[in-house]
Amino acid sequence: MNAQEIRQQFLDFFKSKGHQIVSSAPIVVKNDPTLMFTNAGMNQFKDLFLGEAPIKYPRVADTQRCLRVSGKHNDLEEVGIDTYHHTMFEMLGNWSFGDYFKKEAIAWSWELLTDVYKLPKDRLYVTIFEGDDKEGLPKDQEAYDFWRQFVDEDKILLGNKKDNFWEMGETGPCGPCSEIHFDSRTNEDRAKISGATLVNADDPLVIEIWNNVFMQFNRQKDGSLKTLPAQHVDTGMGFERLVRVIQNKTSNYDTDVFQPLIQFIADKSGIGYLGLDAKSDVAMRVTSDHLRAVSFAIADGQLPSNNKAGYVIRRILRRAIRYNYSFLNFKEPFIYKLVPILANQFKDVFSELYAQKDFVEKVILEEEVSFLRTLSSGINRFEKYIAEHQAKYQETKEEKHLQIIGEFAFELSDTFGFPIDLTELMAREQGFSVDMEGFEIELQKQKNRSRAATAIDTEDWIIVNEGDEVEFVGYDDWEIHSKILKYRKV
Ligand code: ATP
Ligand code: MG
Ligand code: MG
Ligand code: MG
Repeated sequence: MNAQEIRQQFLDFFKSKGHQIVSSAPIVVKNDPTLMFTNAGMNQFKDLFLGEAPIKYPRVADTQRCLRVSGKHNDLEEVGIDTYHHTMFEMLGNWSFGDYFKKEAIAWSWELLTDVYKLPKDRLYVTIFEGDDKEGLPKDQEAYDFWRQFVDEDKILLGNKKDNFWEMGETGPCGPCSEIHFDSRTNEDRAKISGATLVNADDPLVIEIWNNVFMQFNRQKDGSLKTLPAQHVDTGMGFERLVRVIQNKTSNYDTDVFQPLIQFIADKSGIGYLGLDAKSDVAMRVTSDHLRAVSFAIADGQLPSNNKAGYVIRRILRRAIRYNYSFLNFKEPFIYKLVPILANQFKDVFSELYAQKDFVEKVILEEEVSFLRTLSSGINRFEKYIAEHQAKYQETKEEKHLQIIGEFAFELSDTFGFPIDLTELMAREQGFSVDMEGFEIELQKQKNRSRAATAIDTEDWIIVNEGDEVEFVGYDDWEIHSKILKYRKV
């Protein structure tokens, strides 16, 4: 079954159970000060759960494009290193707004996974909330009993509040959740272990695929819990992980979701993708992942910039550019060439990208051109710094020499455009750390300097006063707002 079919089957299945299929919300969140990017399927339904919006359909299902690169959910550091955390991913979800509850949600999850997708039953584990006496939260015995109709006792694990209790915030809807995990270890490996150790595997081949949240309570201001008059179900299943287990792979990157991108990168770089942990393999995984994040963000209206959400996107792209430059030998812009492949893949799913593919391509190209202008000199500076300090460390064995000082991290950022997380990443590769406090101090100093200067810094561009000397550094939002030219004071 290919990825397209797997996605369609999910939607068809829930349609057959009376769900209205709705569109994904944009990945960029514009009207919520607490959230920059959509990080879960439920985001667009938040007001329904809070009782602040009318319920149009009591049962809904969709695939939501998500981004987990900031705030509470930030998986950026995992990407490319492990095989199942992405920055951008699709979350398949089904919802009940005051309609069905645990019984149906559990039975349908099981039916879909084992009957429709034919996943082997003995490879599936589930978790339920064990309860928390201190907080007065009961064990989710109901969920346990429903699962027991399908799953052996030893494959139902108890989970704590951190993993198995969901809360929207300090007050508001909350409730226990129940996760489904899949075990991809080989039979031989499984035969070597047994009992509790077999199930409680802390193994990268045992991955969470689906989370079912049961919104049961309403947390009051005084901390107490009231049972919600209308109870809700909110589920989220990682699409790329689902495809991986159905296609019997041990990495999301080996599925047809990522392979077209990875194969193109492998071909053009002339370095094969072996799926091992070589630096070039990590670079290919990172590139294919980051391209998706950046492309969907741009298509949904978030251009790379030096502020807030725009800077998150710029940082992700610069990270990918540097991986390409250092480990795949792409010294010229390359990432933009992947956009048409991605747009084609998603033509019938998220048509927004296809409709804007030329624009997305241009924005990425422009970003690549701009960062590649300073990247190699920055890397040279960085390497020189590392070599000198390694030598000092060899001489003295003093740990302090294995740290990049704040001033230098700032120089890399200010002069060469290295986002601080890129500097941290490169430092880590060399066994170095970064003095973040020192960096923050330098940053603050600069802010004070520019506040004192005559230019007025506004959100998106700098208003240059008459007589200021400026250097043109490129267009921001070009084509959309062709008038916003960007200048930097010199
Ligand atoms: P994990 O423990 O693996 O980080 P999670 O518990 O943070 O996952 P949830 O918030 O429960 O994830 O999201 C629902 C589902 O979305 C997960 O069961 C998983 O399949 C998928 N998912 C979560 N984060 C990612 C990610 N970064 N990349 C791909 N899929 C993800
Ligand atoms: Mg997580
Ligand atoms: Mg989890
Ligand atoms: Mg989870």
